[in-house]
Order: sequence, then C-alpha cells, then structure tokens
Amino acid sequence: MDGASSPTAAPILILLGPPGAGKGTQARILQDKFGLVQLSTGDLLRAAVAAGSDAGKAAKAVMEAGGLVSDDIVIAILGDRLADADCAKGVILDGFPRTTVQAEALDDLLAEKGQKINAAISLEVDDAEMVTRISGRYTCGACGEGYHDSFKQPKAEGVCDNCGGTEMKRRADDNPETVAQRLEAYHAQTAPLITYYDGFGALQRVDAMGDIGKISSDLGAIVKVATA
Ligand code: ADP
Ligand code: ADP
Ligand code: ZN
Repeated sequence: MDGASSPTAAPILILLGPPGAGKGTQARILQDKFGLVQLSTGDLLRAAVAAGSDAGKAAKAVMEAGGLVSDDIVIAILGDRLADADCAKGVILDGFPRTTVQAEALDDLLAEKGQKINAAISLEVDDAEMVTRISGRYTCGACGEGYHDSFKQPKAEGVCDNCGGTEMKRRADDNPETVAQRLEAYHAQTAPLITYYDGFGALQRVDAMGDIGKISSDLGAIVKVATA
C-alpha cells in the first residue's frame, strides 16, 4: 500500500486456483490497489508463442492441448521477468507455480534475493463454475482487461471500459475439450501446492464462487495483513 521501501520488503503473493477461478481478474485489481506487478506465466507464454521464440515454439502445442508447459521453460521465462526492475516493488503471481518443481524453484529464486512469499492464496471454485467462466471469457486485445459474456460485460457492447479498445479476443484454448485437460492438469499437478503452502503456514483460502467485488475485498483484507 505504502510502496515497499527496499527490495527485501517487496511483497510476493501467489494466486492459486483452477483455470477460470478468477486469478487474472483479481490480480489486475490487486495490482491497481496495492501497486504490485501482475506476473502471469500464461500471458508470458502466449507472448513467446506470438513472438515465435524457441520457448514459444516448444510451448505452443502443449498449450493448445491443455497440458502444462515444461518446468524448465516456465521457470526460465518467469525468472527473467522477475529480474526486471519494476518487479522490485512486489509481485502477484498469477498461474505460477503450477507444479511442486516450480514452487521449489521459486523459493530458491527468492531466497537468492533474501525474499520469501508473503501469502499463497487459493481461489476456490467448483469445476462446473470454472467451465462456465471459461466458456464465456474474452479480453480486450489492447489492454488485456478481462470480460465475460454473462458475468462481466463492458458498459458499451464491444468497447473496453478500461481503454476504449474495440478489438476483443477469445483464447484458442478456451474450448470444451481443452478445458477438460486443463482441469485434469490442475487437479493432478497444481492442487497439491495447496498442501505445500499450507505446510509453510503461507496458505490462505478464499471462497471464489461469489461476485468479483466481494472476492476482491476479501483478497484485499488478506493482502493487507500478509504485507503489513
Ligand atoms: P483465471 O485467470 O483464473 O483463468 P479469469 O480471471 O480470466 O480466470 O476469469 C475467467 C472468466 O470468469 C473471465 O471471463 C472473468 O471475467 C470471469 N470471472 C472472474 N471472476 C468472476 C466471478 N467472481 N464471478 C463471475 N465471473 C467471473
Ligand atoms: P488459465 O488460468 O485459464 O489456466 P493461463 O493463461 O494461466 O490460463 O495458462 C494457459 C496455458 O499456459 C496453460 O494451460 C498451460 O499450458 C500454460 N501455462 C501457464 N502457466 C504455466 C505454468 N506455470 N506451468 C506450465 N504451464 C503453464
Ligand atoms: Zn482495453
């Protein structure tokens, strides 16, 4: 809130949760509220795919199939981004870590800088809600603001509330077949992180079935305490 005064005091927050839980939506709100930087490995990987880099080429088919990109690639991409100067003010990790190997690599990366996680917040939604959320998801192509066909429509149809952009995009992997794979990957590989962070006393659970504003105020309260 008051801006971290030294790099070691920079808050490090993790948002855990299945695809469609609202991680990106809430990370953007927290970014604005607390002056943190949102780091989404999904966004970083989509940028790598679009740029046609080696990492992007290796990630593309896996993402289209709804699997998890290899730990090596994701850890390298995240580590590079975390080293950027703007991240010194604190970060909110959205979609990383997704495996125990990634969680351990993150602990090591932070330890090198004398940092550690303030909180790992699990957004809890049931599987049916997650499918509904993903099937109606679209975003502004210009600024990345997220929308939903039923739950979060822009004030003027097709016009972004945030930037006025008119090019809305839907993700190729937000289709029913891929969603089933992504959900399976979440339960098999990512859900165990809830126990991992609970073991450190860093876990916070949030009921993410309610409306966006209620969830963001619950999250804000947790972040205030975790970064005090
Ligand atoms: P994630 O980053 O976890 O995959 P998103 O933040 O992209 O999830 O949210 C998925 C979709 O659900 C988006 O279309 C978003 O607008 C919508 N959404 C997010 N939070 C809620 C909520 N609490 N209630 C209803 N819809 C939501
Ligand atoms: P969602 O929150 O809807 O699952 P993301 O944008 O976080 O979407 O991720 C999209 C895809 O990018 C994932 O299905 C996966 O293939 C890949 N991905 C993103 N983050 C990671 C990660 N930390 N580890 C492995 N793969 C990842
Ligand atoms: Zn926009």
